[in-house]
Amino acid sequence: MNIILLGPPGAGKGTQAQILVDGRNMIQLSTGDMLREAKDSGTEMGKIVADVMARGDLVTDEIVIGLIREKLQGDKKGGFIFDGFPRTLAQADALGELLAENGETLDSVVEMQVNDDVLVDRIVGRAEAAVAAGGEARADDNAESLKIRLMEYYKKTSPLIGYYYAKGDLKSVDGLGTIDEVSGEIAGVLDA
Ligand code: ADP
Repeated sequence: MNIILLGPPGAGKGTQAQILVDGRNMIQLSTGDMLREAKDSGTEMGKIVADVMARGDLVTDEIVIGLIREKLQGDKKGGFIFDGFPRTLAQADALGELLAENGETLDSVVEMQVNDDVLVDRIVGRAEAAVAAGGEARADDNAESLKIRLMEYYKKTSPLIGYYYAKGDLKSVDGLGTIDEVSGEIAGVLDA
């Protein structure tokens, strides 16, 4: 089973992806994690994307599509969870083509619905928790970048909701409950 977790920054995609990894032996493909790894390991690509990410802007389609293309050739296990990808219509089209080339299909697109006030609180809370634990907040977890990330989401990513609805793949869940409630709802739509 291959699925997309779709939703704004702070919707809880990464948390729910991890639960699906543990429970269903699926593989999480988070372009955000891949880009942060590239940045931390100081690769050429990492240097290129660091500033873009810190601002809250989107990295080019070419870069993220390249990252996903590589991963689709690896082990599939219980299927792929696309987390934070696709984020543009061009990425969505590319994903469709890449899956077809690999003999795979997309089973569901799970939209996690969360209102904007909650997103801001969650992300600011996540940054504060990281600092209180003696760590560092993500470079883009600050009010200024968050505003840009939300704007990018509404301009470029939210059209994917209509795109996948029209394809018949969209399933929406309420992302406002507890982690267990949300994972229960996701399981419900995946197993329906
Ligand atoms: P969040 O969902 O909290 O915004 P992510 O970890 O998914 O965080 O992404 C962090 C940043 O990485 C994005 O703001 C963007 O700069 C970059 N990024 C991640 N995935 C993509 C993508 N599919 N296309 C373009 N940029 C991406």
